[in-house]
Amino acid sequence: MKVLKFGGTSVGSPERIRNVASLVSSRGKNIIVLSAMSGTTNSLLQISAATEAADTAKAESLIADLEKKYGLIIDQLYSTDAAKATAGGKVNGFFDEIREIVNADDKSRAEKKIVAYGELISTNLMTYYLQESGLNAILLPALDYMRTDANGEPDQEYIRKHLAEILKDNPVADLYITQGFICRDPEGRIDNLQRGGSDYTASLIGAAINADEVQIWTDIDGMHNNDPRFVEGTTPVHNLHFEEAAELAYFGAKILHPTCILPAKENNIPVRLLNTMQPDAEGTLINNVLRHGLIKAVAAKDDITAIKIKSDRMLLAYGFLKKVFDIFDKYATAIDMIVTSEVGVSLTIDNTRHLDAILGELNALGTVTVDSDMVIICVVGDLEWQNRGFEAKALDALRDIPVRMISYGGSNFNISFLIKKEDKKAALAKLSANLF
Ligand code: ADP
Ligand code: ASP
Ligand code: MG
Repeated sequence: MKVLKFGGTSVGSPERIRNVASLVSSRGKNIIVLSAMSGTTNSLLQISAATEAADTAKAESLIADLEKKYGLIIDQLYSTDAAKATAGGKVNGFFDEIREIVNADDKSRAEKKIVAYGELISTNLMTYYLQESGLNAILLPALDYMRTDANGEPDQEYIRKHLAEILKDNPVADLYITQGFICRDPEGRIDNLQRGGSDYTASLIGAAINADEVQIWTDIDGMHNNDPRFVEGTTPVHNLHFEEAAELAYFGAKILHPTCILPAKENNIPVRLLNTMQPDAEGTLINNVLRHGLIKAVAAKDDITAIKIKSDRMLLAYGFLKKVFDIFDKYATAIDMIVTSEVGVSLTIDNTRHLDAILGELNALGTVTVDSDMVIICVVGDLEWQNRGFEAKALDALRDIPVRMISYGGSNFNISFLIKKEDKKAALAKLSANLF
């Protein structure tokens, strides 16, 4: 059995839903994970924001717009009146539930509850459509098996056990449909795996059922060697090692959610990135085979803050770095890049929620300077240190761009540069020109 995940654009219109339906119906008894139709999660977040701001009129008007949009989609998607009535009834029911959340006295967790409806709607629409087409499509409710633990991590044992039970209860199926993104927290309350989290759902399911493969179907023919939103002429990379894919996803290659690689890697399940609009394109195969001696791709991570702590007295004495790390640990703030010298340390963070408090404490350790609006450019490939010339080539590409930090040797797979936001596009283009 395989897990096939389709993102928002892939199910973004009645035509696309039909396209995905035909694609999945010829591929056997697999589990199909769907995102919300593109735009819906953003609309639901606007409804949540209005709800939390107690602007009920605005929330109601946004709900009416979205419900109208789905009315049109349903009208175009199904051919029989019976299917239109069944799907229409279900979706209207969902909108009534959203209205109840908006108007409830207790507005706690309104966002978590409201944002879940995007995936609930898309999966119901797809299931009805497949059923109308004569297939025995069974909907597996993600809220019955997808759960996080007390640390906010997926509860893999719970997921495995409950998904197996649900599958066992529904043996006679042509295929299964389920929601990406949504889950329950350890207390059983509705939660989610964060924006873009449907990829994570797919690999968690893959791990839970020990799938033959996890396929991430999207709007592009695999992982490209640079960010196609900023650089022209990028080309797909056909093979990536799990570690290379993880670095690219973490450092900004939006095609893959960063958390998605680990469950697949741990269970050695290949991940394939494929294009819904071009199903025959080769795409990208991610597994534990490393193609040696190649730089594979470049990615960029935005909204980075660099912090430099220059130690006046301690000169990186024993215990200095521990004190620095303890402060970030105390505020649960992850450090991305780090470089040290004899007199100081520079590091980067992307979560600035506790920046003021962190800076307040760092000031006691030395002179602190902060650069915001920075970007990490990450060059990924077989960058094992004995390989010659790759780091020089990457560095040479950036010869006209001011580089604030360089990190190399932290893994065998990447070299990272910290630059200013305004230099990002030029840096990506220059790296493509020099490396590929
Ligand atoms: P989905 O909605 O299917 O999850 P996403 O929008 O999350 O799709 O991811 C696909 C998008 O990722 C592509 O349209 C592309 O613009 C962007 N992207 C960024 N970097 C890369 C890359 N290196 N290779 C391919 N796509 C990338
Ligand atoms: N619908 C969610 C989002 O837009 C999850 C996903 O698409 O992966 O972020
Ligand atoms: Mg995505």
